[in-house]
Amino acid sequence: MTALLRIEDLSVDFHTDGGVVHAVENVDLSVEPGEIRGLVGESGSGKSVTSLSVLGLLGSGRARISSGRILFRGENLLEKDQRGMRKIRGGHIGLVSQNALSALDPSFTIGAQLVEVIRLHQNVDAKTARRAALDALELVALPDAVRRMKAYPHELSGGQRQRVVIAIALACRPELLLADEPTTALDATVQKQILDLLLDINRELGTAILIVTHDFGVVAHVCSEVTVMRHGRIVETGTRADILERPQHPYTQGLMNAVPKLRLSAAERAIPRSSRRLFEFSHDSISEGGKSNVSA
Ligand code: ADP
Ligand code: MG
Repeated sequence: MTALLRIEDLSVDFHTDGGVVHAVENVDLSVEPGEIRGLVGESGSGKSVTSLSVLGLLGSGRARISSGRILFRGENLLEKDQRGMRKIRGGHIGLVSQNALSALDPSFTIGAQLVEVIRLHQNVDAKTARRAALDALELVALPDAVRRMKAYPHELSGGQRQRVVIAIALACRPELLLADEPTTALDATVQKQILDLLLDINRELGTAILIVTHDFGVVAHVCSEVTVMRHGRIVETGTRADILERPQHPYTQGLMNAVPKLRLSAAERAIPRSSRRLFEFSHDSISEGGKSNVSA
């Protein structure tokens, strides 16, 4: 099978006043069509820099991609110009970030923001765009979608805002969704609802999802494939069962030992996934004490 996204030998440095930070080193990572892959590791391990590289959103003049290719449907995104990348972003790859409030514009209604994204990517009239906007809100199960179209971001709860961000990311039916800590800012019960929504979207639309997270609870709940990152490098990659039940690398073993509840007994595995209390998220976070990898 051809990978939808194939990151090959990606290295990203930041040139700072304190020296060069090797944020990402020789990373290989693939996402196949329709799969949900978790990119997991402690804070500062290079997960966000990897996913932002895919969208050409590293920003500031400080970031340098020093090696690698990022192939999306066989095309190297690193060779695309601004215009080409604008088409990819939102049109073919959607982004869901951690902070829904900063992803939304406080001065425009939800409906206006959805319509804008749809008209940016699709050559449709205002009425068709409005219909598509409403469809997107219904897709993410936002209650009372017609009325919500007229609401401003501050009028919604945190979970509702994250649903709107997901609706915007999905409005043009991208093949791939990049979700960077999509539930970290939310309460445990709302986290589970949003993760279940991502599972539903993956099943119903076949959208492939790369979930960036520091939380093995999130991995256990939604991911079929898992890649573990540490200090800018990939340490281990495998299926969800490989990583959660048979971790090979000492680093992953250490992380899993720190999350004993995830080690399932045969009896626990017999329980349907949706009803296992093991996957309550609030206790399952791995260490946030990431070490940065600076070389002066
Ligand atoms: P994660 O998402 O895994 O928590 P990041 O990908 O955000 O980690 O960061 C990886 C490394 O890159 C960290 O050491 C971080 O300090 C560094 N880094 C990220 N952004 C910048 C920046 N704009 N300038 C300098 N260093 C950065
Ligand atoms: Mg991050």
